[in-house]
Amino acid sequence: MDCIFCKIINGDFNTEFVLENEHAVVFNDINPKAPVHMLVVPRLHVASLNELNDKNLLGELMMTVKEAAKKAGLKSYKTLINTGKEAGQEVFHLHIHVMGEKK
Ligand code: AMP
Repeated sequence: MDCIFCKIINGDFNTEFVLENEHAVVFNDINPKAPVHMLVVPRLHVASLNELNDKNLLGELMMTVKEAAKKAGLKSYKTLINTGKEAGQEVFHLHIHVMGEKK
């Protein structure tokens, strides 16, 4: 599949993962909008939140957000999911932005 995040998950670009688990990988955004800007990405290819029907996976992703924030030293952070082109979604593989500043 021609999906950049699937390729990252497959290790095609040797992207360093902040953390990874059974459900997701976390890596730094290539174009950060905050001092710390990570993406939490499910291993399963789901185009957007609109295509996600798995409550358990959503829960696992949010727990991964929390773990990644802790690992990156963030106490405060914003999370963002862009859904659909008009909302600014550029990569059609579900991902959660995690943005913050180490204090
Ligand atoms: P969105 O606009 O919500 O679809 O977010 C896509 C994000 O993926 C953007 O913030 C991009 O900077 C980021 N991005 C695109 N390609 C890569 C890549 N190869 N490695 C890391 N982040 C990427």
